[in-house]
Amino acid sequence: MSMEDEKPFPMNRRQWLYGAGLIAGASQLALPRAAAEQAERPPAPKPLDLSEYEPKSMLHVHESRVERAKFPLIDIHTHISVSTKSEAGVELSPDRQYLGTPQELLAVMDRKNIHAMVNLTGGYEKGLAETVAKYDRAYAGRFYTFCEPSYSRFKEPDYPRLQAQAIEQAHRDGARGLKILKTLGLYLRENITSGTLVKIDDPRFDPMWDACGQLDIPVAIHVSDPIAFFTPTDRFNERYEELNNHPDWSFLGRDFPSNAELLAARNRVMERHAKTQFVVLHVGNFAEDLQNVSENLDRFPNMFVDIAARIGELGRQPRTARKFFDKYQDRILFGTDATPHGDDYPQQVFNDKLYEIYFRFLETEDEYFDYAPAKIPPQGRWRIYGINLPDEILKKVYYQNAARLLRA
Ligand SMILES: [Zn+2]
Repeated sequence: MSMEDEKPFPMNRRQWLYGAGLIAGASQLALPRAAAEQAERPPAPKPLDLSEYEPKSMLHVHESRVERAKFPLIDIHTHISVSTKSEAGVELSPDRQYLGTPQELLAVMDRKNIHAMVNLTGGYEKGLAETVAKYDRAYAGRFYTFCEPSYSRFKEPDYPRLQAQAIEQAHRDGARGLKILKTLGLYLRENITSGTLVKIDDPRFDPMWDACGQLDIPVAIHVSDPIAFFTPTDRFNERYEELNNHPDWSFLGRDFPSNAELLAARNRVMERHAKTQFVVLHVGNFAEDLQNVSENLDRFPNMFVDIAARIGELGRQPRTARKFFDKYQDRILFGTDATPHGDDYPQQVFNDKLYEIYFRFLETEDEYFDYAPAKIPPQGRWRIYGINLPDEILKKVYYQNAARLLRA
């Protein structure tokens, strides 16, 4: 099953102790015993590079293929356009690069019963207006675009007011919400790309959060990252291979705040801006600890979560996850983090297979299947179990909760 089940070490150690004559009584028998051991000794274990390990499950259990979602859905978390310029983790240009044409996206959407996709990274100013025209206006009801803050203006003395006004303008240009990348808290610095890190609850953003509340548009906010990204990239790290593939995803050391500090700052923002609705992405970015997410959902009625890129976490705790969906069925949104042609990140590449895995997780009680379309589980070496949601909860998670927030 998992790597932990292999424990070759105690055996080898015992053999070594015998060989070295260190076990009590072994020294006087050293010669004959050693000779006997030599004869019986099994072949030495062969080393195997972890990256080459691709175990095939021998388990025979029911396998469903869910080609189409049972009900129409809104994917609240996709990235169809991205900034053309970023430096040290901070996006610096309103210009957009488009990752997929509306036609190629619509073909998958129609096959999978995806009524609408929310493109969170629509940027600002002319890039935003262009994205809205290309997708939202050209295919009304199928695409919604969110705007993003313009961090390149952060040093301007009047930034708090300017940024709040920029949100009003973005809303007039068609933005249906505001997206905050993990840039805030982990990358944005006093001099934009240098200096001390700017905190998530920095008061200079207060007018921006309030503007969203007044306009009644949601804030989709990515805060922090998986908890393993804050621990050493060593043999104890359950996301070792992922961090090894993406060393820049480690937030251990340097001047990075802890995960707890980041979440506490985020909570202060939700508390101070009670009239603003926050969709805290990736299951509140603490899917490893649903107790923590539950406590925050209980504390902040203006908090919602999506499940994007975290079915790997939810699906390895199916009973706890099912209770979580029961209890917070009005505040959980379907999302995937889908990125057209994002092949480097199999857990979020926009294709039929990705959606089928999400549907299988939500709609079936299948056991022990891959959470991403990849040869090696990209976020950690485990598999997941379906939670078989009842229709009423499915309809809310797939569609109704997002439609309410988006006023779609
Ligand atoms: Zn995302």
